[in-house]
This record gives sequence, structure tokens and C-alpha cells, in this order.
Amino acid sequence: MTRPIPGLHHVTAISGPPQANVDFYTGTLRQRLVKKTVNFDDPGTYHLYYGDAAGSPGTILTFFPFADAGPGRAGPGMARAYAYAVPKGGFDGWMERLAEQAIDFDGPEERFGQRVITLRDPDGAPVELIETDRDSAEALDGFHSVTLWERDIAPTARLLTEVFGYSETGHETAGGVERLRLQAPGEARGAVIDLMRSDAPSIGRQGAGTIHHVAFRAETDEVQRDWQERLAVAGHPTTPVIDRQYFNAIYFREPGGVLFEIATDPPGFAVDEDAAHLGEALKLPAQYEPHRARIEQVLPPLKVPA
Ligand code: ZN
Repeated sequence: MTRPIPGLHHVTAISGPPQANVDFYTGTLRQRLVKKTVNFDDPGTYHLYYGDAAGSPGTILTFFPFADAGPGRAGPGMARAYAYAVPKGGFDGWMERLAEQAIDFDGPEERFGQRVITLRDPDGAPVELIETDRDSAEALDGFHSVTLWERDIAPTARLLTEVFGYSETGHETAGGVERLRLQAPGEARGAVIDLMRSDAPSIGRQGAGTIHHVAFRAETDEVQRDWQERLAVAGHPTTPVIDRQYFNAIYFREPGGVLFEIATDPPGFAVDEDAAHLGEALKLPAQYEPHRARIEQVLPPLKVPA
């Protein structure tokens, strides 16, 4: 079993009140809300999933919106930013559209020869848009990459190259910030991981506007079981397989401290509602269905822009 990881499955972050989050990701960033469910560990809180029209792996950004979440900030040992891939020819259009809507962004700057702009979501999370030459019918072609902030880049780079099958494809240092680019083989969305290290001292704090974990793809349950074994052998024991309704998940902490997950492609988001109506109704896992009335009472109402 030497199959490499193809790329990201999803990224999960923490936000403040959900309505502003829905407005930003579906409105400004033109993502589809592909699932409206609850936090399986805390069913009084939503778990919102955004993605492309089909809810494909490599496009999925999920949020736990806590109404009273204090602001967080990224630091070493945390994922710092997620980046969407702007399809070929679309980058200038994005900048014009954001400017027309008076939405602030930083940049464009160059990173490994590609233009990057950085927006802030309603909780201050940095959202990067990176110019690519990918052809896509979508406004954004899923993830380009995530950036992991590390105290020491080397141990995480070793995990990604020696175990996951990534290759180093770039190394830049500018303004006291070192960035190492690693790439999975193949053309999957979200195939890039950037590891960054900063000379400036900083301490992160989990809270609104920060990333909770980064999930990589396993194409099948069998592949996931192989990863469980390989990671244990490599000194990174994982949790048991956890049923997340739309995928199965295993978790472990990478050497720098970021929570990694490996999530299966199946069954996907159409497992409990019609693919044409993803995200429209509140979906609950079987154990919470008997408590639906009470859960719906506690959750704030959400309006998804048409
Ligand atoms: Zn996850």
C-alpha cells in the first residue's frame, strides 16, 4: 500500500454568529451551503459545510459557529489560512468584483509566482484567493492550499514527504517569514500544503476566526484503514474511525501541533438529502432526530441568500 494522499478533503474552522458566516461564504465567495447540520458533540450549535455545487472533497470548508466565541488568532502549531484556487482567467474579475462591493483585501502579492489576494471573513479569518491555470465552471475551484504555521518546519515536512507522499516544490523567505511548499502528486483540488515559520514571536489562541483542523482525503474506507496502520507504524497513532455521517474520520496531531484528520470520500453529502437540494433543510444524525423540536428551538434561524 503505497498510495499517496491526493490532497485536502476539508478544512474546519470556528466562527462567531452563523448568519454573517453564511452571508460571506455563500454571497461574497459564491460557495454553496452543502450541509446544514449540528455539531455532533454539541447539538445546540450548527455545523455548516460549504463547497462546490456537488460538495466535492477538496472544496469543503466547515464551521462551528459559536454565538459567543471569543476572537482567536493563529500562531505556531495552528493552521493559519486556507486558500481557494481562482480558475484560469478569473483573477482580475475577482479583484474588480470585490472592489465594486467595497470589500477590502490585501494584495495582490506574489507567492511562488502566483498572484494572491487575502480577504478577511466576518470573524477576521484570512481567506486567500490564488490565481491558477485550472479550468473550472465554478467561481472558485475548491482549495488551492492551506498554510500551517510551525515553530520548526522540518518534522512536519518529513511527515508530509515520507509518509503522505508529498514533494517539496518551493522555498521562499521574505520579511522574516519562511515558507516551504509541498505538493501531493496528481491534480486533485487542495493538493498543496505550505509550511511557514516566522521570526516574530507569537502565541496562537483557538477561537472565532481560527482553523480547528485540516482533513486529508482517503478515497475509500479501506484506504483509510491502511492510513491508520501506516501512521501508527510511522509513530503517529490515530483515533479509532469515527462516523461523521458524510465521511468517516480518523484524527491525529502532526508533530507541530496541528490537528490532522483523514476523511473518506464516501458516502458524501447526498447520503441524506437530494443532491439538488443540499443544505436547504436542517439534517440531524439518527441519534438526534428524536430531539429535533428542541434542537430547532435552540438554533438561531438562518437565511441563505438565493
Ligand atoms: Zn473534520
